[in-house]
Parts: sequence; C-alpha cells; structure tokens
Amino acid sequence: MYQAPRGTADILPQEQAYWRYIEEKASAICSLYGYERIDTPTFESTRLFARGIGDGTDIVQKEMYSFKDKGDNDITLRPEGTASVCRAYIEHGMANLPQPVKLFYLTSIYRYERPQAGRLREFHQFGYEAIGDADPVIDAEVIEMAWRFYQALGLKKISLIINSIGCSDCRPNYLDNLRKYYDKYVEQLCKDCRTRKERNTLRLLDCKQLTCQKFVDNAPKSEHFLCAACAGHFNLLKKYLDRMELPYTVDHKLVRGLDYYTRTVFEIQPEIEGSQNTLGGGGRYDNLIAELEGKPTPATGFAAGTERIILNLKREGIEVPPVKKPSVFLASMGENAREAAIKLASDLRQAGIGVIQSTGAKSLKAQLRQANNLDMQFAIIIGDEEVAAGTVVLKDMKGNRQETLPTDSLADRLTG
Ligand code: AMP
Repeated sequence: MYQAPRGTADILPQEQAYWRYIEEKASAICSLYGYERIDTPTFESTRLFARGIGDGTDIVQKEMYSFKDKGDNDITLRPEGTASVCRAYIEHGMANLPQPVKLFYLTSIYRYERPQAGRLREFHQFGYEAIGDADPVIDAEVIEMAWRFYQALGLKKISLIINSIGCSDCRPNYLDNLRKYYDKYVEQLCKDCRTRKERNTLRLLDCKQLTCQKFVDNAPKSEHFLCAACAGHFNLLKKYLDRMELPYTVDHKLVRGLDYYTRTVFEIQPEIEGSQNTLGGGGRYDNLIAELEGKPTPATGFAAGTERIILNLKREGIEVPPVKKPSVFLASMGENAREAAIKLASDLRQAGIGVIQSTGAKSLKAQLRQANNLDMQFAIIIGDEEVAAGTVVLKDMKGNRQETLPTDSLADRLTG
C-alpha cells in the first residue's frame, strides 16, 4: 500500500477548519499592521539558501532537500521563507518602494529532520518580513504582532523570550569569549557541540543534550558584549515592549538556528515544552540582503509553524469555527422527479445555497438516512406528485417537521 512519505502528512477534511482559522487570523493581523502577501517558488537555487542561511547551520549541512534538475541546475526545496522573500525584494527592485516593505507568506517548508510530534519534513509556516528599516520600533512591532497573533488564536499558555546577539562589530569578541569558556569543557561536550564550537559557536547555547546544558547557565552572555549601538538598540526595544506591556523575558540562551540574525532574536514558546517545540521565532537580519548581493538593507521578520499551532490549539481545547458546508439534501423518487431535482439543485446553488444531491436508486427512507448521516439541516423531497404540482416537500431534519411549498419560493425560504 502506498503511504505518504515519512515526515509528511495529509491534511484531511476534518483538519481543515484549523488551517482556515489560522490563515484567517494570520491575514487579519497582517492587514492590521500593513503587510501584503507574497508567494515565492517552492524551489530556488541551492546557492540562495547556502549563502543566506549559512553554510555551518544544521539546515544547510543536514536538512536541505537538494537535487540536480534535468537541466543540471542545483535546486533546493525551500527550507525557510526569509531568503526567498529577500531574493524577491532585490529582484523586483523593492528598495525603490517606501520603506520598510512589509510582506507576509503562508507556505510549505521542507527540512530533512527526524520526524516526531510537531516535527515534520514538510511543514507549513506563516511568516512576515519588514525590510528596509533599522529602527527598534520595527523590532518591537514585529514582536508585538507575533504575540497578538497567538492571542487572537486564543492561545494562553505561551511565553515570549527575547535576546540580542549583537552585530558583526561586537559578535566576534563575544564568540571568542564563548569559545574560551567552552575550551575548558570540550571533553565533556556532545559530538555535535564539539563541531559547533568551531563552526556555529552560538548554537552551543541551545544544545538540547543534558550533558551540554549544564554548561550553558554560566556561559558568557551576549548582552554583556554588545557594542554601544547594539546595546542602545536593545535597550530601546525593551523600553518599547514594556510600553506595550508585553510579558517578555530576556534569555541569553536564545540564539536561533540561522546565521543571518543580528541584534534582536525572539521566540514564542509553549509554556510546557519551551524551546523543544517552539511555536514561532524571528529577529533582525541586517546583513542578509547584502549577503544576497543586494544593497545593504536592514530587516526584521518572524515565522510561525502552523502544525505546532494546531497542536497547541488542541492541547488548550480551543474550538475553531467549522468550515461552511451544504445544509440541504435533495431527495427524489422516480426519473421525472430526478430531472426536476437536477434543475432545482442547479438553481439553488446559483442562488448561493449549498446542496447535496441524492444519487442512485435508493428508497426515500435510505435517502433520508443519508441526509441524517450527513448532518443536514433540511431535506427537500420531490416525487411525481410534487413535479406535477410545481411544489417540493421541505423537511426540517432537526425539528422533524415538514411543509409543502411552491418550488419557486424555496430559495427565499432557505435564505430568509
Ligand atoms: P525556524 O525557521 O527554524 O525558526 O522555525 C520557525 C517555526 O517553524 C518554529 O518555531 C516551528 O514552529 C516551526 N518549525 C520548524 N521546524 C519545524 C518542523 N520540522 N516541523 C514542524 N514545524 C517546524
């Protein structure tokens, strides 16, 4: 039997209400803050991600779906959304628009990870980017927007964590200090962390191995190594967040998995699992556009994982509105009535009334049972008598009442 590939999932009809709910909340918050939708291709040239996300990161080293296409081009399925949006910003000359340019996306993402609850190989993100502005007001707004988005979804058991990891001026000194600190413990670090120490030093701080975690608390903190400009930026950001009464904590362990971040980083985490199952994260990436051969342009962004949101909606028992479906079942008896029913179903649908039409040669009883199983509100019944009289029987499936009425008054009756 064929099965969906490991780490992928079918999104079945009964799950769709969650997806529509999240998409609607995402679109609504974006229009409040002035973000416009962008869709980029599912695949890009591999170079874009290797360059943007960073050669030393787990994503680029281990997780990309990369292949050569039939034209011998190096292609990668999108492992995150930001690099593609920045490529589009540069390619379409968006630097000439009023800045910052604010864009959002709802998209599928591909990472070859070890699948587990909340961790898939094909998953989905709602993300947004504000490109072209270095003001900490934008950092505060991007963080606030993420927080309000989760609030609008109804999630309560969440926390907001921020940090500043400095810029290319102050970070090298911080990383030197971090490496020196870890030099003392090299023998005790996990295999990954020994590599990280040289290639991706910051990630030492968010290793999930217990053996490594005990060194994290006393490790040097990036906040203490910020240059004056970064410290000023971080202080203003905290002031603005305080002003908006956002309940954040500063956590020096928060570093994020992609190389492009500068200064602000933040995450929204479920209270019970913390960083194990982060709901969403983002930050500032002032060097990325230049790294992708655009004019140096500051930017900030955020991405939330849709599957993780759904897990948490279910866990918190949040009910979502059902997707609208037809409430009228059309039953008929005999060939004459069936032809009349086909025309009636067509008319009702054109009047905006959803109809499920009976098929096959079932008894009336069987047809009504089907209407009941489909949880229909009404059944319309047409037989030879009704066709001759130009009427239908309208049966209220919930109230168990029925009435006969002229066919041409039916649409008004059902919408009225
Ligand atoms: P990242 O791009 O790694 O910062 O991820 C942003 C968000 O996407 C995370 O906070 C998660 O909610 C979600 N996410 C990341 N990786 C996965 C995955 N493998 N499966 C499901 N969701 C993920």
